[in-house]
Amino acid sequence: MPRPIYMDHHATTPVLPEVRDAMLPFFTEQFGNASSVTHVYGKEAADAIEEARRSIADLIGAAPAEIVFTSGATESDNLAIRGGAHAGRGKGNHIITCAIEHEAVLETCRALEAEGFAVTCLPVDSRGMVDPGDVLRAIHPGTILVTIHAANNEIGALEPIADIGRITREKGILFHTDAAQAAGRVPVAVNGMNVDLLSLSAHKMYGPKGIGALYVRRKVALEPQITGGGQERKRRSGTLNVPAIAGFGKAAEIAKRDLPAEAPRLEALRDRLWSRISERIDGVVLNGPAENRLPGNLNVTFSHVEGEALLMALRETAALSTGSACASGTVRGSYVLRALGVPEEEAHSSLRFGLGRSNTEDHVDRVADHLARAVSRLRTISPFYQEARPS
Ligand SMILES: *Cc1c(COP(=O)(O)O)cnc(C)c1O
Repeated sequence: MPRPIYMDHHATTPVLPEVRDAMLPFFTEQFGNASSVTHVYGKEAADAIEEARRSIADLIGAAPAEIVFTSGATESDNLAIRGGAHAGRGKGNHIITCAIEHEAVLETCRALEAEGFAVTCLPVDSRGMVDPGDVLRAIHPGTILVTIHAANNEIGALEPIADIGRITREKGILFHTDAAQAAGRVPVAVNGMNVDLLSLSAHKMYGPKGIGALYVRRKVALEPQITGGGQERKRRSGTLNVPAIAGFGKAAEIAKRDLPAEAPRLEALRDRLWSRISERIDGVVLNGPAENRLPGNLNVTFSHVEGEALLMALRETAALSTGSACASGTVRGSYVLRALGVPEEEAHSSLRFGLGRSNTEDHVDRVADHLARAVSRLRTISPFYQEARPS
């Protein structure tokens, strides 16, 4: 049995062979603790960490000293938001975010609300875009932190980060962005975007799972969330995961090298997939922005078809999802789609396509073909479609 075509690159990506090769020595011969620099074992590990730190800083236009390693973007979001809020408590208690952030951001904001912080959750328009004017209007003298993601994991919307950053910079407010989906897929530059804190995850850019980083602009105060041996300039204690960090560094280096060719290639594949789908299947709607969108992302409503039923019908051909990995399997439709104003039943009829390095034109054509057949078969047994069908 051939394995289904993987089109779920927003959930995770495979480790590239070059990345795996960069990790292997640090499991065995070069197993040192990067903090034990009294001997060659520790020094080898410390050198590998610093090399990776340079590659990751390079990908986002930062200085190596501004990179803090964490266990992933979830932890980076927690450190940025909780750490930033706690450090800024003397100045105020107000935080601004938006309705379609990843749960790592939304749940952290909710937890802070329970501690007494006030959170404004901005709406997005029907394409999933935050209005920088809304950010400006929500700011008041007690505002200490704005957190708006760079790219959405379900609909691929690229938010106007540079415009929001100009506002927060002028007002002297800390600005965090979750760039787990954006980094490696579209150009990301911390200075051009005016961000102070930026979350990264290795496994979204062909690196290993369980490793990430937080960019922390020089002089930004953060309260550490994990205390102990004082690693990472006291911002995140714990023995560094050397093999994972070496892999993350290699993945960042490759992402930077390949982005100029890979982004337009994925965009063309994504557009081909949308043409194939919209030409062959009626009653389809594109969710999210037509432009300002992650190159490999497509999110489509197939009206009068259950998303889960469609996934089942396609499971031998393609590995897809109905929305974020965290939300799939739940009964409620995607909160991201509902925030765009997509009605509940249509949110249940939507699929997310996440194209990546391994995907080809042949994959796109095969998946579109199978989709057309599956949608038409499922609609013949849908009483709602029979009623609504234009005759
Ligand atoms: C995947 C993802 C996360 C979580 O990253 P982990 O490294 O898996 O913890 C956070 N935010 C966004 C936007 C993501 O896509």
